[in-house]
Amino acid sequence: MQNSMANINNSLTNYDLHCHSTASDGCLAPEDLVQRAVDKGVTALALTDHDTLNGLEEAQCKATQLGLTLITGIELSTLWENQCLHVVGIGINRHHSQLIEATKQLQLLRNERAEKIAEKLAQKHIPGALEAVKLAAGNSMITRSHFADFLFKHDHVRTHQDAFDRYLAKGKSAYVATPWTDLNLAIQWITQADGVAILAHPLRYKLTSKWMKRLLSAFKTAGGQGIEVVTGRSTPDEIRIATNLANTYDLAGSCGSDFHCPEQWVELGRLHPLPAHLKPVWELLR
Ligand code: AMP
Ligand code: MN
Ligand code: MN
Ligand code: MN
Repeated sequence: MQNSMANINNSLTNYDLHCHSTASDGCLAPEDLVQRAVDKGVTALALTDHDTLNGLEEAQCKATQLGLTLITGIELSTLWENQCLHVVGIGINRHHSQLIEATKQLQLLRNERAEKIAEKLAQKHIPGALEAVKLAAGNSMITRSHFADFLFKHDHVRTHQDAFDRYLAKGKSAYVATPWTDLNLAIQWITQADGVAILAHPLRYKLTSKWMKRLLSAFKTAGGQGIEVVTGRSTPDEIRIATNLANTYDLAGSCGSDFHCPEQWVELGRLHPLPAHLKPVWELLR
């Protein structure tokens, strides 16, 4: 059963439309995440774990208990012109068979990637990574964050960020290029599951304005309907730039903290308001 969206289109609602649980690389179990969202004043939360729907059922149960509106979501890793781009889907039918099948394939892809990352680390005289990340992730999606945790815990790096800068980021020694879902296909999966496709954190890709134009045209043509205008770390300048992009390409604006862990990340619901002269993405939810 999908959630009724009828009661959420009002100005008293405090939306956070992007966050993670232990179903991918967040620190909080779905029910604890929902509890924290309520404690922080969020009234409508989209749980958007990386390439998985697995946290949604637990989150929905807790949300019903606490009177929070849980919006179904996912953050798909996609490829466009050889760039990894994240697309958030919200309001999806989490029982849609095509999407469920896709997430199963993505888990296999992530497992294969994890093996390759671990091999590269072993070549750097860092053994045991695969066993450690598998243990930490359990049935959840294995992400590079799990590798960063492992590297930090075993004193191979001084900080979590250092793990990316030295080993895991693009171009570093344990980076593994991954054939993520084609952008068009990912948008199709979302829209066919009745969801709204949103380009996540558009300014993080460091695209030139020419490439940004090409991307947003392609995104729109493929059926994308929204763009994140306010994310957890957005500055007022960045919000202004993203608002212009949204208006130029007639995309609805979204806001989400991208919360992963208490203390280490921007807090749930701690967001600048969406600029008023922008169509809010929640108006597209059915
Ligand atoms: P994955 O989807 O497995 O490639 O892991 C991506 C996750 O790792 C992101 O959602 C972030 O949480 C984290 N991450 C990716 N790149 C970086 C980076 N350069 N610095 C810190 N964290 C990163
Ligand atoms: Mn993440
Ligand atoms: Mn992302
Ligand atoms: Mn995210």
